Amino acid sequence: MGLRGVSTIALMAAALVAAPVRAAPSPIAKQFEFAIADTKASMMTDPAAALSKARAAATIAKSMPEGREARIARATSEWLSSEALTRLGEPERAKPLVEQAIATVRAEQPGSKLNADLLKSSAAIASKTGNIQSALPLLHQAFSIYQKLGETRSQAIILQNIGSLYYDARSYQRALHYYDQAATVYKDDPAVTVSLHNNRGSVFKEMGDFTAAEKQYAEAIVIAAKMDSPFLLANVLSNLAWAQIKNNELAAAQATIKRGLSLAGSDSTLIAGFYGAAAQISFQTGSTDEAARQIAISFRDGNIENTTMEARDNHDVAAKIYAAIGQPDLAYRHLRAFKRLDDKGRDLASSTNDALMSAQFDATNQKLRISKLEAQKVQKELALEQSQNKLKNVAAVTIFGGVAALAVILAMLFSVATSRRRRREISAANVQLTYSAHHDLLTDLPNRAYFRELAGDAISDAAQSGGRAALLLIDLDRFKLVNDTLGHNAGDELLKLVATHLKAEAGRDAHAVRLGGDEFAIIVPKAGSEEDLMALGGRIVDRLSAPHMISETTVNIGATVGISVGPYDGDTVTTLTRTADLALYAGKSEGRGRAIRYGPQMQREIDERRVLEADLRVALERGEIRIAYQAIYDANSKSLVGYEALLRWEHPTRGAISPSQFIPIAEEAGLINAIGDWVLKTACAEAAQWPENINLAVNLSAMQVEGQGLVSHVVNALAASGLSADRLELEVTESVFLHDDSKANETLGQLRALGVTLALDDFGTGFSSLGYLRRAEFSTIKIDRSFVKSATQGSQDSLAIIRAIISLASDLGMATTAEGVEIDDELELMCSLGCHRIQGYLFSRPTYAPSVDHFGLGNSDHVGIPKRSAAA
Ligand code: C2E
Ligand code: CA
Ligand code: CA
Repeated sequence: MGLRGVSTIALMAAALVAAPVRAAPSPIAKQFEFAIADTKASMMTDPAAALSKARAAATIAKSMPEGREARIARATSEWLSSEALTRLGEPERAKPLVEQAIATVRAEQPGSKLNADLLKSSAAIASKTGNIQSALPLLHQAFSIYQKLGETRSQAIILQNIGSLYYDARSYQRALHYYDQAATVYKDDPAVTVSLHNNRGSVFKEMGDFTAAEKQYAEAIVIAAKMDSPFLLANVLSNLAWAQIKNNELAAAQATIKRGLSLAGSDSTLIAGFYGAAAQISFQTGSTDEAARQIAISFRDGNIENTTMEARDNHDVAAKIYAAIGQPDLAYRHLRAFKRLDDKGRDLASSTNDALMSAQFDATNQKLRISKLEAQKVQKELALEQSQNKLKNVAAVTIFGGVAALAVILAMLFSVATSRRRRREISAANVQLTYSAHHDLLTDLPNRAYFRELAGDAISDAAQSGGRAALLLIDLDRFKLVNDTLGHNAGDELLKLVATHLKAEAGRDAHAVRLGGDEFAIIVPKAGSEEDLMALGGRIVDRLSAPHMISETTVNIGATVGISVGPYDGDTVTTLTRTADLALYAGKSEGRGRAIRYGPQMQREIDERRVLEADLRVALERGEIRIAYQAIYDANSKSLVGYEALLRWEHPTRGAISPSQFIPIAEEAGLINAIGDWVLKTACAEAAQWPENINLAVNLSAMQVEGQGLVSHVVNALAASGLSADRLELEVTESVFLHDDSKANETLGQLRALGVTLALDDFGTGFSSLGYLRRAEFSTIKIDRSFVKSATQGSQDSLAIIRAIISLASDLGMATTAEGVEIDDELELMCSLGCHRIQGYLFSRPTYAPSVDHFGLGNSDHVGIPKRSAAA
């Protein structure tokens, strides 16, 4: 492809030339400045020389008298060393240098051009190391600095870089949009213009408009020719050649290739590109032998399995050629290589997409967050493009099937057919068949069917020998999240990784098994001591909870392990699995991330929960469930603005049971809709008695939002009570978006259409993705008590987060409510930060009787702690 080469090289050069030269007061500073200029001069042509010059500059910087100037000088030389290292293909070594320099410049010269340049270098490193998630925000940060400084040239460069990220992610409309913006911002520089035309051309090529692509390349070539850079010119020519081939202008393409090869020098990537294009032409025109000769030159270093993205199209050509000349093995290797690179492109697409989606709340840069929020708007568009791309890929494989794949498959079938004749191979095939029936395709671990066999053997061996057989059930936390956010490829990769870890932990004497989905098990036939087993469980948890690299992204999952030991906890596969399952369940409800041995009390706890569940079924009818109301105040006027309905269960024998405890039981028992409906009806009827300016907030469980009937329950509650819809606010947490967010969006949209408002509850405790705010159009964000508390206790992080939430909410026209304000200091801080509403014990505990004398008691004293029964 060669395309990224062009854009990157031209742009980096542009950035370097534009770097500032400060006035030089002292001789040593002058000397330093000279060294820097010298370094920059060789950066383009000879990065190795630039590296040693940058190091020389660093030595000069060290000899400068300690102070601000010396520190900046040091940072500058670190930056240039890192630039050189990146060009030399060592981004990992460049990374710490840039980070160090950024830290210095942030302290000494924040908002300076050097600061922005560093962020840009850092983005280049991130994108070279496949970490698109960080590259995108860094580019945005750099952009906003350049914008403030009026550096239009640098702005254009950044916009192009962003465009190229989208290009890599196959989001072509988006890429074009950024390229166009770049052209609007700045167009007076040949390097910038060449790369713009080249990049645009490549977008058109990918979109299938080869004529438009050729036109762009032609413009790029005119300018590049004037710039006297054969390397640059050759790169654009290689792009042009492919566009011409696709446009079926083979003679023109041939001429382009000839011209390009005369300029390519010894650059192996360029040579490979031109020969690949030439091979394609020969193949298309029936000169298969010539095509084979040319494609062999293109892969002359023998590297097929480790090629980079540029080689993708060449693999495609090679597979077709080798299939045609009867070399299915080679064809197959190229086919696989093509698929590997194509998958990589898709992964990149999904991770870039994810970079937008996971606009995780980072308080330090709210501006950036807002721009990310805007990016969320195009998320749907991205998803659409992705699915279109998927279709395209399917189409590509199908077309390909006509030529190479068919030949490969035929060749394979043929060899299978002949081998079938031989007995030995038949039995080998049977072994293979048995193996496949017993093993999981993805991880190669024994599957559920085989598990029963292995566990059964282990139990009966233990019974005969008087020993113990242990079963560890392993459940992954947050696996679904990885699958949903990073895509199924990443999910598969993760499962394979988990399998590798479990195999390693199981060793030779135990069996790691995949039961299905994200459920795994280890069977230990000759189990050792209790301590050994617990240690094994602990090791599994630790190992799986460590950060994993998946698709070049760090993911954090966790694991919970339930352990049971036969014959004590069960002497059949069924009973032993059941007890291990109970242990697993207990581990999960105790907060996950632990290994737990089964104990008989677990059965009792389950039984108890059953009893509680049965009690809950009749609690409503018996009037044991009631609603308490907690006041919410306006932060400015300190006047009452509404009440939040909070459930209370007064159990006849156990006393008060917290909603945090019984709501999950209600959800599990399928009672949540009935209870939720009752709360809506009862609370709306109550609120209809209040003065009109007092609103009602009702909590919804995610299950209600996901389930059926919520909208009609709300309609009925409003109709029956006569409460006007705009006085009702429904509180949901982010978890409503975790499972089926299209359903959640639909339901929340319908609710809004009724005129009720929505609040996002407990914000800051979950994923805190700002995308959620936009999607469901919340009117209120409720800042979780944990933030209120820690910010008041001095946590800078929490403080920054609250600040960002409030400012963002104001921009989006939402109100913020601080939850759980208990003391004056918290109140003071939240008010000073501009929080709109306050809720908490300081003002009022939840009460069964929101009495009228309560209303209008608007001052900052401790109002509203009711004399009547407080029910919190
Ligand atoms: P939530 O929606 O975040 O409700 C706020 C919780 O914080 C309530 O706990 C409230 O009593 C408590 N709280 C209020 N002010 C303070 C304070 O100053 N300090 C402290 N430490 N706590 C304060 P509660 O009533 O135990 O409710 C717990 C959770 O149960 C609620 O959290 C909500 O998620 C759920 N819940 C309550 N009622 C319902 C309901 O009707 N339906 C559903 N689905 N969930 C409910
Ligand atoms: Ca709430
Ligand atoms: Ca809350």
